[in-house]
Amino acid sequence: MVIKGVSIQGEQQAARGQAMWADDAAVDNWAAQAPPEVVDCHRRARHRYADTGTGLQFSAITPEGWYVRRLPCDACRIRLDDDPPWPAPSTGMPRVVRVEWWDVKHHRDKITRCVLVRAAPEYLDKAYLGAPGFGRMRPRQITASVTTAEVLGVTQSVTQLRKTIRETERAAELERRNRMAALEVAQLRAVPETG
Ligand SMILES: [Zn+2]
Repeated sequence: MVIKGVSIQGEQQAARGQAMWADDAAVDNWAAQAPPEVVDCHRRARHRYADTGTGLQFSAITPEGWYVRRLPCDACRIRLDDDPPWPAPSTGMPRVVRVEWWDVKHHRDKITRCVLVRAAPEYLDKAYLGAPGFGRMRPRQITASVTTAEVLGVTQSVTQLRKTIRETERAAELERRNRMAALEVAQLRAVPETG
């Protein structure tokens, strides 16, 4: 049996066979306080597990004989004091590791094929999933929280927001016209002189 990559939220609820949704205000509070790299993995609803491809991949063998591979999520590692601030990558301990159990098939002593049997996220940072009973957060909800906070960080006024957009549009239009004019001049200069 192979478990495909599943959403990283709601696993606790799924285990209890119920879905409970967090409301917008609760998500806003959570997004404002949680580390940005944690918010980002929740928002994406997917971790970024480290790429493999170098050397020995397995680190243990279970009593049942499965070969264990552990892939940390590089996106939501704990930020160290000397790490540059978000959105630069953080380099501390991983908060979440994908644990995979593999069947290493062999014929006599020769390895013939490695087959994934099972995979599950392991939360090294218990705070990652939030408090039990908090409810499941939709990625769209988290994106709305983050974007709202970013916009409010610039202005709280719709009039000001619209004015800023019009100015941006005007600047882009001016830049486009300047580019066209420069292009025309270059083309005129490129015309070979006759006579
Ligand atoms: Zn992650």
